[in-house]
Amino acid sequence: MSEDFVLQTARPLIEFQGVYKTYTNGTHAIRDFNLKIHEGEFVFVVGPSGSGKSTFMKLIMREEKPNSGEIIVGDYKFSKIKRRQIPMMRRTMGIVFQDFRLIPNMTVYDNVAFAMHIVGASKMEIRRRVSYALNLVGLSGKARSKPDELSGGEQQRVGLARALVNNPTMIIADEPTGNVDPNMSYEIVELLSEINRRGTTVIMVTHEHQLVRDFGRRVIMIENGTVVADNSEEYDDAYFEDYNDYADGENYGVGEEYDEGVAVNDDYTFASETTIDSVEEELDFVFGEDENQEIGGEAE
Ligand code: ADP
Repeated sequence: MSEDFVLQTARPLIEFQGVYKTYTNGTHAIRDFNLKIHEGEFVFVVGPSGSGKSTFMKLIMREEKPNSGEIIVGDYKFSKIKRRQIPMMRRTMGIVFQDFRLIPNMTVYDNVAFAMHIVGASKMEIRRRVSYALNLVGLSGKARSKPDELSGGEQQRVGLARALVNNPTMIIADEPTGNVDPNMSYEIVELLSEINRRGTTVIMVTHEHQLVRDFGRRVIMIENGTVVADNSEEYDDAYFEDYNDYADGENYGVGEEYDEGVAVNDDYTFASETTIDSVEEELDFVFGEDENQEIGGEAE
């Protein structure tokens, strides 16, 4: 093991140092925000609506820039990051969206494969990794289905497969269970836990306090734009007493065996009529746009 490797793993993966973010309309979304998230952690981010959770996630992804303070993600110090480095930095992240953001006219397989295609992976690597990812989320049998033929929970599992297929260092998920059936929420978090167990850092925003309780991970609680509690011991049940409980929290777990193998063409091709050109514009939608990022500097 090289010394570099040791140094790298000893550092936090994400660090916020006195970060402030005020939107142009004057809203102070994040203030005096300090935290460290280390490689391999699974972190829930909780807090009332409007407390700054999404802004925090957007700052990590460099979708928003802070007004002051420093953000460090992996090897990148955001005060020094160059515009051309942002796509590389983002490739260390697998992003899971609340509204799935699958490409409707593409099969499940293609939705996942596409994420690898755009980073220039080889056909062989694409076949191998897509099979792995679809197996992991238990959707090998649905490889040829289109998103509208799947339940919300299944669509989000495709979203998870897509997020992990490029082997990211971290998964960033802003309310990934917000649009799925409550029982399926457990399945999604079980899968995120499994992904985490295999070495990927997971940061997940959620409103579902029962999930947070049941999974017993680190909890970062945000109120009025700042961290008010950090770690599961401090997680105060009373804080959530106004929220509605759902079910009994018993019916969770993946509960089904992963399918063996994925039925796909021998040579990798998009199963649908979709071509790379026709979906190019979907890219910004799914993965965010890099072109408009400014170099370094502060947001106004
Ligand atoms: P949460 O995810 O916890 O609901 P957000 O980070 O979305 O909170 O929002 C924090 C605060 O910033 C809220 O007051 C919200 O209205 C405001 N806000 C969020 N996005 C923007 C924006 N693009 N422009 C102006 N204000 C915003």
